[in-house]
Amino acid sequence: GSAKIIEKKREFLFPCSHHFYKNPPQIVRGEMQYLFDSQGKQYLDFFAGVSVMNCGHCNPEILEASIAQMKTLQHTTTIYLNQPIVDLAEKLSHVLPGDIKHSFFCCTGSEANEGAILLARLYTGKNGIISLSNSLHGRTYLTMSATAIPMWRVDPALDTSVTIVPNVYSKDKPLDEAARDSLKEIEKVIQSKGADNFAALIIEPIQGNGGIITPPKWYFKELKTLLEKNKILMIVDEVQTGFARTGKMFAIENYDVVPDIITIAKALGNGMPISAFCANDEIASAFTKPSASTLGGNPVASSTSIAVLDYIEKNNLCEVAEKLGAKLKTGLLNLKEKHPLISDIRGLGLMLGAELLKENGEPASEETDLILEGLKDEGILLGKNGLGRNVLAFQPPLVITEDDVELVLSKLDKILCNL
Ligand code: PMP
Repeated sequence: GSAKIIEKKREFLFPCSHHFYKNPPQIVRGEMQYLFDSQGKQYLDFFAGVSVMNCGHCNPEILEASIAQMKTLQHTTTIYLNQPIVDLAEKLSHVLPGDIKHSFFCCTGSEANEGAILLARLYTGKNGIISLSNSLHGRTYLTMSATAIPMWRVDPALDTSVTIVPNVYSKDKPLDEAARDSLKEIEKVIQSKGADNFAALIIEPIQGNGGIITPPKWYFKELKTLLEKNKILMIVDEVQTGFARTGKMFAIENYDVVPDIITIAKALGNGMPISAFCANDEIASAFTKPSASTLGGNPVASSTSIAVLDYIEKNNLCEVAEKLGAKLKTGLLNLKEKHPLISDIRGLGLMLGAELLKENGEPASEETDLILEGLKDEGILLGKNGLGRNVLAFQPPLVITEDDVELVLSKLDKILCNL
């Protein structure tokens, strides 16, 4: 059972490795929106391995492409030409926003963000990076420095080139006002340290780990204008939000803004490790020195990602996320009326968060854990995030049905009634 795994984990993994649940299920098998534990118990997965399995677990159509490639050619590095990596880059250019066309493939979201920051420095000839409170951008030295969530920072590992500014979240102010204040603070920082000191601002369109923090419609346009005025690039981190999750292929499309650099990972490979930073002709041309990632965009990962893009298109996953997301949001708003523990519902498409606050306004972290445990016992796996680990995160595979949404809402209602 799970006790043995926890014991082994304690003995052989690093002490920093982290898991959900006091008594975590030992997951042994996945099938589309379902996971199964070692006892044969079925779970409806509403977290998708943190927004990775958008096309479902062990999706047969995608597996077919991975296995066929695995049997033909697994790896060469980019030193030799291969078809899948260029086909994937071409396919991505058709769905990436605006004139973004070139991709540099690597393996993780952290690497993609690290590369994006390097590219911004090469293009602008400047060094400083602006990042926002509640952000998570990775665990390499620089991307951890750009990560503002205290839980995910190891504080000696701080690079002083990163300046953290307030995001749009405030418990005490309406969203629009907090968003205005965020822009004012960003402008202040640029003025006080000088526009010449900043290469880029890096931002998640919707902050995932930070608590599904969702800026108002107008925010990104004004932010882009401010950055352009100061010749600072906008790096949009779509690691968690990309690939139909929010009802659009990329979340930034909800805001009608074309970023300078976009980073993608997680759902691109639907479980295969692949990521990329992407830019237009002009910006990509700043990176001319030979560079390669040994495993980045290898044939198996690339062929899988091509199948992912085909599957998203063929099955209209953007529409599914929008339609079922609307249904889930309506249901959650109804639960908010009924249960005062729920203080806010936010997000877009099937990336929704329910913030839980105690009567005194403090994060309801223990209650969040109790709800997660209760849902697990009922056969539903939900996520949690936010600075106080008090936001229920609904980010299911985009292959769920209306019945799945109704089931989650009714079980959540029952648990909240009995809390
Ligand atoms: N950016 C965002 C928005 C993320 O959510 C994450 C991971 N949760 C990362 C970057 C880092 O990605 P990885 O763990 O693949 O390095």
